[in-house]
Amino acid sequence: MAQRVAVSDGANKKTSRVRVVVRLRPYMGKQDEKDEGPCVRGLDSQNLEIINWRNATETVKYHFDVIHGEQTTQQEVFRSVKPILPHLLSGQNASVFAYGPTGAGKTHTMMGSSDQPGVIPRAVREVFKLVKAKNEDDRWDYSIGMSYLEIYNEKVLDLLSPSSLDLPIREDKDKNILIPGLTHTTISSFSDFDKHFVPASLNRTTASTKLNQRSSRSHAVLLLKVVRTQRTLPHRQQTGKLYLIDLAGSEDNRLTGNQGIRLKESGAINLSLFTLSKVVDSLNSGTAVRVPYRDSKLTRLLQDSLGGSAHSVMITNIAPEYKYYFHTFGALNFASKSKLIVNKPFTCETVAVLPVKRGREGHEAGGSGT
Ligand code: ADP
Ligand code: MG
Repeated sequence: MAQRVAVSDGANKKTSRVRVVVRLRPYMGKQDEKDEGPCVRGLDSQNLEIINWRNATETVKYHFDVIHGEQTTQQEVFRSVKPILPHLLSGQNASVFAYGPTGAGKTHTMMGSSDQPGVIPRAVREVFKLVKAKNEDDRWDYSIGMSYLEIYNEKVLDLLSPSSLDLPIREDKDKNILIPGLTHTTISSFSDFDKHFVPASLNRTTASTKLNQRSSRSHAVLLLKVVRTQRTLPHRQQTGKLYLIDLAGSEDNRLTGNQGIRLKESGAINLSLFTLSKVVDSLNSGTAVRVPYRDSKLTRLLQDSLGGSAHSVMITNIAPEYKYYFHTFGALNFASKSKLIVNKPFTCETVAVLPVKRGREGHEAGGSGT
């Protein structure tokens, strides 16, 4: 009976909302500059306010799934991400992306430092932990692999094999998105992951000193793939993908504003970020309008991980200083549109020898809590 309830909750509605989390970093402006103080502040765990530039006696309030205030630890931020990870072990996709202006804390949130590790190292550790627990008494064998790429100027570049050229993004007959030619490395432990990830991240940093602003204009995408194979016949196989994305600075995404759309300023507009915003809008409208995934590399890559099939968390990073004011407003408006996106989780199977039983799928989706 309880099982039936779980099935109808999970399988029939099949909805999994994108969780929108806002993280406000600590004030770092020099007090002697103009001593303006912060222009945005958290009110409680779900609400924040920003001063209204039209009328400084007013504020504009926003409501989100979670507001992480200035004192939030890396561990607390990870708690917003952790619940989506178990889905990877049953062939479902998930994505986490950090959005916001340059300097607001995206890289701190995703990568962190050795003494304050961010979402990426914590998520990788957690996935290994989940797989280890499953391996002890399960009918499936698990393997974990990683890819790491950068989208810069609409080129897909392999960070694990940095000399490579722009890679194509394709879709297979089951509508799974894949990148032929992208390095995919099997990893057996967290330290194995680190061994590949750290030098690849340094590659990215080195490139950014040569070409100014590169790291703030590119999207760094880490893909963690969990493949499980049944130990007995028919050896069904399921693949769950996790994308962990440090997006380009959102100040490049000049969609609206007083100056209008400045698409002609070549390079100033980040096509992928611009399209991400359109995709979010079109998903949000909930109508039959074509979702423009194909209009940019990032959204094409995220097609099976945002809006359609995946469990997603968007962390919008914002900064409290006045110099970020308009970028903060833009980021908050982007984020508050996104919180209405509805995702439909499903299980991706490559060897569909037996149809997936509704009961199993429903039970898993029903337990998501997202
Ligand atoms: P972004 O990647 O969005 O451009 P960074 O992550 O590089 O921003 O952050 C800019 C600066 O602010 C860095 O020096 C970073 O260490 C610091 N910073 C960001 N978020 C926090 C935080 N929550 N607590 C302390 N320092 C932070
Ligand atoms: Mg950064």
